[in-house]
Amino acid sequence: MEYEAVIGLETHVQLKTKSKMWCGCANEFGAPPNTHVCPVCLGLPGVLPVANEEALRLTVLTGLLLNCQIPQRAKFDRKNYFYPDMPKNYQITQYDQPSTVNGHVEFEFNRALARVRITRAHLEEDVAKNFHFERSSGVDFNRAGVPLLEIVSEPDLTSADQTYEYLNALVEILRYGKISDCDMEKGMVRCDVNVSVRPKGAKELGAKIEIKNMNSFSGVRRALEYEIPRQIEVLKRGGKLIQSTRRWDDEAGVTEEMRTKEFAHDYRYFPDPDLMPSVPTEQWLAEVKSRAVELPLARKQRFMRDYGLPANDAEVFKNDVPLGNYFESVAKQSKNPKAVANWVINNLRAKLAEKSEAGRDVPIAPRRAEDNPPYQNLKFKPEALLELIGLVETKTVSSSAAQQVFAEMFETGNSPATIVKEKGLAQVSDTAAIEKFCDEAIAANPGPVADFKSGKAAALNFLKGQVMKLSKGKANPALVGEILERKLKQ
Ligand SMILES: [Zn+2]
Repeated sequence: MEYEAVIGLETHVQLKTKSKMWCGCANEFGAPPNTHVCPVCLGLPGVLPVANEEALRLTVLTGLLLNCQIPQRAKFDRKNYFYPDMPKNYQITQYDQPSTVNGHVEFEFNRALARVRITRAHLEEDVAKNFHFERSSGVDFNRAGVPLLEIVSEPDLTSADQTYEYLNALVEILRYGKISDCDMEKGMVRCDVNVSVRPKGAKELGAKIEIKNMNSFSGVRRALEYEIPRQIEVLKRGGKLIQSTRRWDDEAGVTEEMRTKEFAHDYRYFPDPDLMPSVPTEQWLAEVKSRAVELPLARKQRFMRDYGLPANDAEVFKNDVPLGNYFESVAKQSKNPKAVANWVINNLRAKLAEKSEAGRDVPIAPRRAEDNPPYQNLKFKPEALLELIGLVETKTVSSSAAQQVFAEMFETGNSPATIVKEKGLAQVSDTAAIEKFCDEAIAANPGPVADFKSGKAAALNFLKGQVMKLSKGKANPALVGEILERKLKQ
């Protein structure tokens, strides 16, 4: 019998706000322990939480980017449980009336479009962080009360690789929308993975097994690559799977059972009496909507459609937003966007990377949408790039000479026409001049000439090279080929 996996994810993402969810403490990673704390986020008695409006905006913005519905009313609830990293003994979350519901994410997988439905994205707070030392433990409350978005997917994923691509697509959307930096190293994204297996084609879901607290996407992929065959093996041997929670041991490369869910938690949810329900007004929603950005996949598709670019080029401009924006500003004025893409990707990007590695002023283009791209500080104008493309198209310069022109204009900002003139790089299409170079090359190389005449076609390339050398690289190569062949066949 064949089996299939069914996977759903709960992804937790820290929101990019200045302050925490219920107090004015800074939402900042890396500060000394317990320096961003106050009575509210320490859960002292008698304090009152005040909702961070920007966190609410970012939650609704996420909903819009994930094609969710935005209910007219959302509320906050207390989820009660005791744990040392949660001083209030309850977490404030959204239980039955979340801020966003019923969306979906589309992404590319195996050269097709995949779609994962989003059940909900709700707002809650992060907990503190526990540290375990040799003989003691410590708690850092800097993270307690940081706004946390939980994005819950439907069980629409079917493989480890597909899950990995979904997570990448999700994070890309959140970065585009400036909702979160999604810095995995700083623990800004963590997820719980729900995975079950069932006979292929069966309607009913198998026992749900949850792998808790994953903090890297490659870890999620490895965990699933282990867990799915493990579950299938149990069923094949006639065993039974029960609903349980497991943890992934990355070093050992295995999942281990933490607890079975025979005794499900009762969190005794109830509405938080200290917080008003959130009822977005038309005006407030319009303001959030104005912050919606074009999605990464839509951008890639648009670059392919509007500029006739191949998928690889469009992918580069999807991943490197400032580079793509620069390309677009030039391509809009060009009849040959593919040539613009070639120059921007192969030459400009390489030059900027070179500069940056040399520790100079132009940084490597960041992957994320930034407000201050390095392209504002380029010495040459977009028009210069268009001019250079024109010079290649009219065969005024050869493509190798064009590389030199580009290098020069990148360094000095001089116009291509000026550079061509000063450096004498104009391609020689003057037949008389080329005929003269050909005659010289033929006279100086009787050996190869004889080879060619006796049928060795490769000898022509050698002679062509000699002519190019005589012309100092400026002869039009196509013309050189034509003229040489005609002369040799006389
Ligand atoms: Zn605080």
